Amino acid sequence: MTTDHGYPPVRMYIAGEWRQGGTRRTAPIVNPATEETIGEVPLATTTDLDDALEAAEAGFRTWRNTPIAERTAVLHAAADLITERAARIGRVMTLEQGKPLAEATGEARRTADTLRWHADDARRAYGRLIPSAPGTVLTVRREPIGPVAAFVPWNFPVGGPNRKISSALSAGCSLVIKASEETPATAAALVQCYVDAGLPAGVLNLVLGEPAEVSAHLIGSPVTRLIAFTGSVPVGKLLAAEAGKVMKPSLMELGGHAPVIVCADADPVMAARRAAQAKFANAGQVCTSPSRFLVHESLIDAFTAEFVKAAEAVVVGDGLEQGTTMGPLANDRRLAAMRRLTEDAVAKGATILTGGERPDRPGYFFAPTVLTDVPSDADVLSEEPFGPLAPIVPFTGLDDALRIANELPYGLAAYGFTRSAATAERLSEELEAGILSLNHCGGSVHEAPSGGVKDSGYGREGGPEALDAYLITKRVSHLLAP
Ligand code: NAD
Repeated sequence: MTTDHGYPPVRMYIAGEWRQGGTRRTAPIVNPATEETIGEVPLATTTDLDDALEAAEAGFRTWRNTPIAERTAVLHAAADLITERAARIGRVMTLEQGKPLAEATGEARRTADTLRWHADDARRAYGRLIPSAPGTVLTVRREPIGPVAAFVPWNFPVGGPNRKISSALSAGCSLVIKASEETPATAAALVQCYVDAGLPAGVLNLVLGEPAEVSAHLIGSPVTRLIAFTGSVPVGKLLAAEAGKVMKPSLMELGGHAPVIVCADADPVMAARRAAQAKFANAGQVCTSPSRFLVHESLIDAFTAEFVKAAEAVVVGDGLEQGTTMGPLANDRRLAAMRRLTEDAVAKGATILTGGERPDRPGYFFAPTVLTDVPSDADVLSEEPFGPLAPIVPFTGLDDALRIANELPYGLAAYGFTRSAATAERLSEELEAGILSLNHCGGSVHEAPSGGVKDSGYGREGGPEALDAYLITKRVSHLLAP
């Protein structure tokens, strides 16, 4: 049953059954484009969490002992269902997160491809046979690590959970995943695809709840063997510390503050168009979103004029309306942050070239905003905006640009524009980032790893490296004649 909005009731999936209601506490789910409450999310009880852990423990035994061909077939069937249901999943996503329908549907389609890629890659999770002494077989095996506790945020409501689910299940692990309480129905629609594809009960469990309570419970349980988190740096540090106390490995995909360096020899118009397109995707709520625009002083006027033009061409509106290219921010916390960062920059001397305010309508909308004359102590230059704010800063020499780019504690994405192979090589070597795009602002691709350095976390998602965290490496030496 769905509401007038077409928003489904939200449920958790634990031990092969959908759960909601009862005496569970709930929290409202708000459509960020209208500020209307469209549903309520059930918050897991301790019993729910214990049941999910018990199911994941049993589910792990089932799944790891399922022949790889059968596992792959289930995962491909789930991918086909995600593709088939992409439009439906996209609509639910737009209602609870706000991004334009086409962007939401595209995210669902892409995530099905990610799942196919990981499922196929897991078939090649080979070990090694190592030359040794006669009568001794020395091997290295790769085995699933065990039940995983995963935590994902609200900015990619289907792509985020599916990165964890697809890697873990492909590697042969089971999961208890906590999706965001702000985007739970999209996660439930994703889980339904796995259920309908024939995934055995207990292998995948979806819980929702009070984040700190759920994470403490799941990390502390002896059942959990790996903690996989995507979210903010402060929460990542907290969970990594909790995991460390019980000696559990963790995978941390945290925030950044991506610099874009536009070198003196770049095409400023092309750079501005590509950077602006990436900046305003998902209203800037992307961990790799370009967020500090360092432009050579000789190009600053041309770059800025084109960037402002692109910002003003963005059509801000309800993601369900035809023609919208940027939806609202996903929650009121982001809206408050946009106001605070803009006011702080202006108070310190910055100029707003376009945007800078909330349109006069309900919803957590904030206009695409371009700032210049931004002093180096403005908060927006050191705090990840995670929203549609673009501070443009001139530089004179490449040394200065690299110093500014690297001086923050983050190191997730970085971007560079240059026509010189030598400069491109220098940027590749010297930018402290886990993901570097040159002459474009590339998004993540399932064939290649994504992840951070420094405070942006550790571990990689995507590419063959995605399975590393979910597999243990075991050395076995076997003396044939004991
Ligand atoms: P937040 O720090 O409150 O939460 C970030 C995420 O962590 C949310 O999904 C939240 O549910 C979860 N979380 C919070 N406390 C937790 C706990 N103790 N255990 C488990 N999960 C917990 O921030 P927010 O207001 O939701 O988002 C703001 C900031 O978070 C942004 O500015 C951005 O830096 C960062 N963020 C990063 C990503 C990313 O993809 N790396 C995604 C969303 C948010």
